[in-house]
Amino acid sequence: MTITEEKMTFQAEVNNLLDIVVNSLYSQRDIFLRELISNASDACDKLRYEALTKPELIAENSTLAVRLQTDRDAGTLVVADNGIGMSRDELVTNLGTIARSGTSEFLKSLSGDARKDMTQIGKFGVGFYSAFMVADRVEVVSCKAGSEEGWKWSSDGRGSFTVTEAPGATRGTVITLHLKEDAKEDFLEGWTLRKVVKSYSEHIGLPVILVGGNDGKSDDETLNTASALWTLNRNDITEDQYKDFYQHVAHAFDTPWMTTHYRAEGTLEYTALLFVPSEKPLDLFEPSRRQHVKLYANRVLISESCEELLPAWLRFVRGVVDSADLPLNVSREMLQNNPMVSKIRTGLVKRLLADLSKKANDTDSWLVFWKTFGPVLKEGLYEDFERRNDILELARFHSTASDTPVSLTQYLERMKDGQEAIYFITGDSTEALRKSPQLEGYLARGIEVLLLSDPIDEFWTGMVPSFRDKPFRSVSSGAADLDTIACEDSKPDEEKDVPPTDQMDRLVAVLKGTLGDRVKDVRPSSRLTTSVCCLVSDEGQMSIHLERLMRQHRGEKTDGAAARVLEINPGHALIRSLAARANEETTSPALEDAAFLLLDQARIVEGELPIDPAAFAGRMARLMEQGLV
Ligand code: ADP
Ligand code: MG
Repeated sequence: MTITEEKMTFQAEVNNLLDIVVNSLYSQRDIFLRELISNASDACDKLRYEALTKPELIAENSTLAVRLQTDRDAGTLVVADNGIGMSRDELVTNLGTIARSGTSEFLKSLSGDARKDMTQIGKFGVGFYSAFMVADRVEVVSCKAGSEEGWKWSSDGRGSFTVTEAPGATRGTVITLHLKEDAKEDFLEGWTLRKVVKSYSEHIGLPVILVGGNDGKSDDETLNTASALWTLNRNDITEDQYKDFYQHVAHAFDTPWMTTHYRAEGTLEYTALLFVPSEKPLDLFEPSRRQHVKLYANRVLISESCEELLPAWLRFVRGVVDSADLPLNVSREMLQNNPMVSKIRTGLVKRLLADLSKKANDTDSWLVFWKTFGPVLKEGLYEDFERRNDILELARFHSTASDTPVSLTQYLERMKDGQEAIYFITGDSTEALRKSPQLEGYLARGIEVLLLSDPIDEFWTGMVPSFRDKPFRSVSSGAADLDTIACEDSKPDEEKDVPPTDQMDRLVAVLKGTLGDRVKDVRPSSRLTTSVCCLVSDEGQMSIHLERLMRQHRGEKTDGAAARVLEINPGHALIRSLAARANEETTSPALEDAAFLLLDQARIVEGELPIDPAAFAGRMARLMEQGLV
């Protein structure tokens, strides 16, 4: 029989990655072993799952394990598993292309001189290629479970690989690493392998065995505990073990910010070991909003990411849930609308929220968490009616009254006599919001206003009516309701220097007449103390900020916000003189310029363009000329 060899080239992206991997010296290259063992472990999990419905797949050779074997003479290290294996096509796609989108980010993170951190490779779905850090040739012989055919993939990591038939292969994957000269002294040694497996692969769900020497002197040796950590008693687990397990299960490199480990007993029994990361996972804001909690039925992995197990607003949680009560023949499809899964979900959410609210007592730590995951949690405010109140209790907001974010409880405690609502303003950044003219009247009365700058804030504020019976109210929408609350240290209204009512009425009429349908209305404002004017939305009208967010979302650049209410400050010297002028003439070029300049400056403060930028420039120039020339 002649065996034909087929030569293929790597996808361009793989080549870029390999260039870096092959040519550079990384101090932590031992992570290649973690990556290969992790792949072997995934392959065994996949086989266990397939075998639930097709037991014949696993029948012979049913003790799943990873075996490491060194050969000093040949200078090779073999990493072998008896998991699911790969078909010829799978070898070509899995080890020749990159499926995931994070890869280019990984390449970017490597390209800076200072931060060549290869250790994070597993996070980006390209862990296999790390083998080329220690090997100048890698051979992968694989036989897919249920198939008779074996195939061999081989490459030196430089541009191309070959695929050949490999007669006689048995189920699983055997990876032979032809070690680079300088890697031999490390990875042919039992003690190095022991150390590396201990530190990276202690808690994977299957044994890693170091095969004894063929000298007959040494026996096979299992290098890791291979216990499913979640099945152990909480008191018997150290922080470090939790951390290692978290890093393994989440493909993460940070320390868990919170660990929740418990066994639920009663009508439905399950064990949950869940972690809140301290760093933002890469895909947190991808539209797919994928879950990453693994679901096991009696230690058999059923789903890598069970969407039904947690609501999307808790998608940053990592870990495992294992229930012996799930039927073993449960298919991934059956997990949808499964009453047991939804019971577990209710339990998990309740427990996580309870643990989170305990953590909320430590303000500094909580604010770090909230900054990282608050925007995700806030999605629950409009997606999960039942949990709304719990989330509002946990929420922290920037506010005019404090430099550190505040809770709503603190807000309620500070409310002024006569204040009926929780006031907020939304916009692009806290810093810009602090300077908003709409706040002036509230600040003058010592009323605290929440400064909301997450895009999500626009959505929940429109849907959440109140907190502990106090309604949420935007300071930039509707009429200001400030009359019931006294100004701090300022003159009573009667003594204020404002134009007579009839003059004000005339000015309002002139402005309305000039601006036409570019404004919804013009009215004197109680919101303003120093600024001359501002824009507010009408009752029930979308905020300017939300309108802008939607426009950006649709990719539209031009065509600014719809008409708003222009509010003017009767106490401002400019308005007083304009009112006096409007008393004498109803139209004049100067009044017309003033009307447009008022509207345009109010738009600019909101982050919008003037109605007609060229006309705006012309008016500004005329005005400066009058003042200067
Ligand atoms: P990831 O494990 O994140 O998918 P890798 O680069 O580590 O990325 O592996 C790429 C793919 O190659 C895996 O998703 C898997 O399909 C396949 N693979 C790698 N090693 C094995 C193995 N030992 N057995 C079966 N399939 C494997
Ligand atoms: Mg991998």
